[in-house]
Amino acid sequence: MKILLCGGAGYIGSHMAKYLASFGHRVVVLDNLSTGHQKAVLWGELIEADLLDSASLERVFRGQHFDAVMHFCARSLVGESMQQPYAYYANNVVGTLHLLDAMQRHGVECLVFSSTAAVYGQPTSALIDEDHPTAPINPYGASKLMVERMLADAAHAYGLRSVALRYFNAAGASPDGEIGEAHTPETHLIPNVLRAALGTGPALKVFGDDYPTPDGTCVRDYVHVDDLAQAHELALAYMDANDGAHVFNLGNGCGFSVREVISAAQQVTGRAIPHELAPRRAGDPAVLVAASAKARNALGWRPQYTELAPIIASAWRWHGDPRF
Ligand code: UDP
Repeated sequence: MKILLCGGAGYIGSHMAKYLASFGHRVVVLDNLSTGHQKAVLWGELIEADLLDSASLERVFRGQHFDAVMHFCARSLVGESMQQPYAYYANNVVGTLHLLDAMQRHGVECLVFSSTAAVYGQPTSALIDEDHPTAPINPYGASKLMVERMLADAAHAYGLRSVALRYFNAAGASPDGEIGEAHTPETHLIPNVLRAALGTGPALKVFGDDYPTPDGTCVRDYVHVDDLAQAHELALAYMDANDGAHVFNLGNGCGFSVREVISAAQQVTGRAIPHELAPRRAGDPAVLVAASAKARNALGWRPQYTELAPIIASAWRWHGDPRF
């Protein structure tokens, strides 16, 4: 298949490109390089374009036909979204609307969309399945939920087939160390832990230890980026057989606190992780852990990384590489 990867220069998008190429799919990357990296586009042509620029989007779709689109372009930082909500609604909602409109006009009928656990807000049960109420507590989650609603409406009105994948905490790196997670500024826990271990970043700030969790720090469900890529590839076949708009959680079903991540990283790296307590970060729910049975059953998803240590080890291999 020929697949347009919007946001294919970013962390999850670049791992996706590598995964698709390994299955013989043809990949075209569309990215505005605002947070992605040109040097991470190693498996297909890069078209530098912005979803907010309808004219350049039109040129992309007029020039070639795609069998499906995978859409990773988004602003994705909870804290930043609390400070700059308009930027989140513009990029994540308006940008996606432009993309959907271009797809519809050019007869592209299948979309895999990067959604997020942030659509659930403050969960009311320990394990979150797809029927859990959606009530985002930050603009990032709200922007993704708005797109999910657009996809449901598009299925009804235009016959768009879509799979929205609600990622829990994407983590890790390609096991060969070729690509990995590189954000500027870096806000994510595991890269910040590893940078603190290496001394290339400051001491880790632990954002709050007064949450209603066993050790008081937030609990998250870390899922390896290649396992996310596997689910996207399976979604292509799923859309072949199923019309409509579908939603799946992608997580391991195991929660780890910030302090547990720090001690696992200490073991993996053999280094001390300098860290200090800091105030809570706005917009952070206490616990987010996925029930992913639906993706396992319907997509046939089989995550390969079910433990924290190998996920951190893959990230550690890449962070030690000075190329990025
Ligand atoms: N976190 C932290 N220090 C950091 C980065 C993150 O304590 O430098 C915490 C954050 O408050 C959250 C968890 O680690 O509870 C995961 O945060 P991350 O930004 O990696 O992902 P998110 O859950 O926001 O998608």
